[in-house]
Amino acid sequence: MVDEAVAKMLFDQALELVIVSDAKGKVTYMNKMAQENLGYEAECPDVLLSEIFPSDIVLEDKKLKIDFPLDKTHQFMMYRQNRTCFKTEVKLSEIEEGRFLCMALDISEKNYLEKKVSQSDQEAEEALQVKTQFVANVTHELRTPVNGILGNTKELLSKERDSEKLATLRLIERGCNDMHTIINNILDFSKLDSGKFVLETAPFNFREMMDYIRATHINKITEKGLQLQINISPEIPEEIIGDELRLQQILNNFLSNATKFTYTGKIAVEVLKTAQIGNRIELFFMVIDTGIGIAKEDQDKLFQSFTQVEASTTRKYGGTGLGLSITKQLVELMNGSVHLESEKGKGSMFSFHIWVEIPMDENVPMDDTLRSFDVTVPHLDSTGETELMLTYGTKENREELKKKLSKLILCVDMDNWEKAEVFMESIRQLTQEAPREIKSAALRLKMAVQKADADKTSDAFDKMNKLLKSEE
Ligand code: ADP
Repeated sequence: MVDEAVAKMLFDQALELVIVSDAKGKVTYMNKMAQENLGYEAECPDVLLSEIFPSDIVLEDKKLKIDFPLDKTHQFMMYRQNRTCFKTEVKLSEIEEGRFLCMALDISEKNYLEKKVSQSDQEAEEALQVKTQFVANVTHELRTPVNGILGNTKELLSKERDSEKLATLRLIERGCNDMHTIINNILDFSKLDSGKFVLETAPFNFREMMDYIRATHINKITEKGLQLQINISPEIPEEIIGDELRLQQILNNFLSNATKFTYTGKIAVEVLKTAQIGNRIELFFMVIDTGIGIAKEDQDKLFQSFTQVEASTTRKYGGTGLGLSITKQLVELMNGSVHLESEKGKGSMFSFHIWVEIPMDENVPMDDTLRSFDVTVPHLDSTGETELMLTYGTKENREELKKKLSKLILCVDMDNWEKAEVFMESIRQLTQEAPREIKSAALRLKMAVQKADADKTSDAFDKMNKLLKSEE
């Protein structure tokens, strides 16, 4: 047990105001904090507890009348000797028959701070709203003149024959289109920033959307002497339910960046169905380029707003550094995430997954959950021989697989990536019915080949070979 002297010493160190009183309310002890705060100069001043808490503690028949729960915290006004008062959090306990301990904490500052914080929260919310509204107004005002210039330029372009003037008009047209993209990005960013962004989901034809994506980018890509490859897994149904425009926006951003930052080689888009829960499916997209790549130390900051790898990027390639930040937020709104694999000078792979719905009548078992990595469309003829070759695990299949793998690695050694891809396609078909880890290994190998990355290809090749050997 702590004796009274020790207790007093401890109370004198306390930040709380400690007062002990008898059953008649007469204060018998007051710690230093209480004396300082209440304006008394003695440890046992001549005062009653009911004078310190006149609104909450009263005397009846010269005895304390307690009509609130003991040992619980209450908010009472506490009065100083000079009758000024302040708000406190108070706990009263009966430490022994007829002896009360009162512990009080001055909360006037805490209350003030709480009020201040809630006031600042409100002010911040109001400022955010003003900002969002301002951005909406400004972007709207900007869009009108840009549309006007674009319309007139298009008209002049259709009439003009002089090649020099045509070139200037095309530059103006391009400038207007860039302005449109920037205006839209700023508007989206502001909506996402203030949490006011809502996805609009509706049924749409997935392959038609992908055709549109191809049509949008093919000219720019071929103009740069690059190739565009788009592979869509046959497992993905025709009709899906999601926000088509926003999905296009995500893909457009990745593809525009891939085009912007690639000078030789190609750009590939791969879309797989990687999971299904009832009528919801997970779509996995990969946008792979053989461009300038991004150094490891720059990769994390890319998805932050207004960030570009180097300041010189803006001068050289334009852009605001908002694209990836918006894209990431849009993907997250679709319950997915974005990933980046890249190496400086060797190209990049931006991948993301999203969840979409498929119409209920697509004959889907509601409680069925499946994960798969089926990505192949069989192109080989169905002669008896090819059938045996395609049936995973047959002697023919194994031999063919070995042959194609060694040819693939030969092509890689000779830096003939185009040929390597042809063998890769056969490997995919030969492993169509293989167990999941073999199929995943084949997919990794394919991705490495598509990126024309010799190190990754050789790694993936070794892993695949090891798996195949362990099966024998
Ligand atoms: P912006 O709107 O300026 O294009 P983004 O957010 O889309 O901004 O991209 C930010 C930066 O990320 C780009 O300026 C570039 O430095 C880098 N980046 C994005 N995609 C690629 C890519 N495929 N290859 C190399 N760098 C890229």
